[in-house]
Amino acid sequence: MLEPIYLDYAATTPVDTRVAKAMMQCLTKDGNFGNPASRSHSLGWRAEEAVENARRHVADLIHADPREIVWTSGATESNNLAIKGILEKNQAKGKHIITSQIEHKAVLDTCQYMVSQGYKATYLQPDSEGLISPEQVADSLQEETVLVSLMHVNNEIGVINDLNSIGKICRDKSVFFHVDAAQSAGKLDIDVVQDNIDLLSISAHKMYGPKGIGALYVRRHPDVKLVAQIHGGGHERGMRSGTLATHQIVGLGEAARIASQEKDADIQRIKNLADTFITQITKVEGMGLNGSRDCRYPGIVNIHFGGFDGETLLMTLRELAISSGSACTSASVEPSYVIKALGVSNALADASLRFSFGRYTTENEVQKAIEIVTKVIGK
Ligand SMILES: *Cc1c(COP(=O)(O)O)cnc(C)c1O
Repeated sequence: MLEPIYLDYAATTPVDTRVAKAMMQCLTKDGNFGNPASRSHSLGWRAEEAVENARRHVADLIHADPREIVWTSGATESNNLAIKGILEKNQAKGKHIITSQIEHKAVLDTCQYMVSQGYKATYLQPDSEGLISPEQVADSLQEETVLVSLMHVNNEIGVINDLNSIGKICRDKSVFFHVDAAQSAGKLDIDVVQDNIDLLSISAHKMYGPKGIGALYVRRHPDVKLVAQIHGGGHERGMRSGTLATHQIVGLGEAARIASQEKDADIQRIKNLADTFITQITKVEGMGLNGSRDCRYPGIVNIHFGGFDGETLLMTLRELAISSGSACTSASVEPSYVIKALGVSNALADASLRFSFGRYTTENEVQKAIEIVTKVIGK
């Protein structure tokens, strides 16, 4: 069988060959395999240098200082460390967190766990376009609020939150602001200083790096302190113990370095491809875009197919590697909670598919995808 056309970049991206090459140099006996924590010989120093080089690339990508980057196993762990770490550290201040109904499960499940531990959570409902307004955030702040956790780009519908306005509100009220930037890092400009962000989660495998590595930005000025969730040796300034995975870290660093240089060109190309796709697909009766048309990262396109059901759609579109709802919930046949939060019917939420585009998507692939979709739907 022919390989399907890959339009699932929001689920994961292939590793850039330049990234893979850099990683391979950190594995074998003749490579940079030392333990970055080994202080007594040159192999350790060399590995540490590679790790610190990568830290600088990741910091540069979001306008942070390298000392503000903590390595984790991915955005799921970063979200856990950010939310649990800050709430546990600030119990004396209060026990309230504000987030939204359309966060990734890595945030929602963590909040739910904290609620089971006696914390309170407010889940903001987005408008029908999928946007959370800064006023909503301001209105839901309480005396007890410690943290606002909102994503930058939504992984299912691609809408972008107004980080700058929300960050200002949080800073004014001395409430910590955490951003899940798994879908935006390496794609959109991020400036943690300008946007008053205290904590920010990054995942390598959403930006052409390897799976199993990520980072958490932890602000130093003003100093943000977290309770560690993994103990054992005090690596990463005590915030996250464990031997640093040089090859993984170097992979994320190289992915960040490339993204800094190429993200503007990438997004322009992706936007042109996605615009063509949306224009052609939504010409068909019953098809429409879920979420805001304007305030969005162009690489994630979520379409509702009136009159169809999700399973049938995926079956008939087997030539395309796409997803219904998010990959993380695709084990269940429940319609996506993100689409449902926009206020659309269960039937339409169920008949929604995510097409996501990336660095290697070609015009030819997009044209083929348009043909396949319009042919199937036309029947
Ligand atoms: C993929 C993703 C995550 C999880 O990241 P991992 O590195 O796979 O753990 C978290 N949040 C969002 C928005 C994502 O897209």
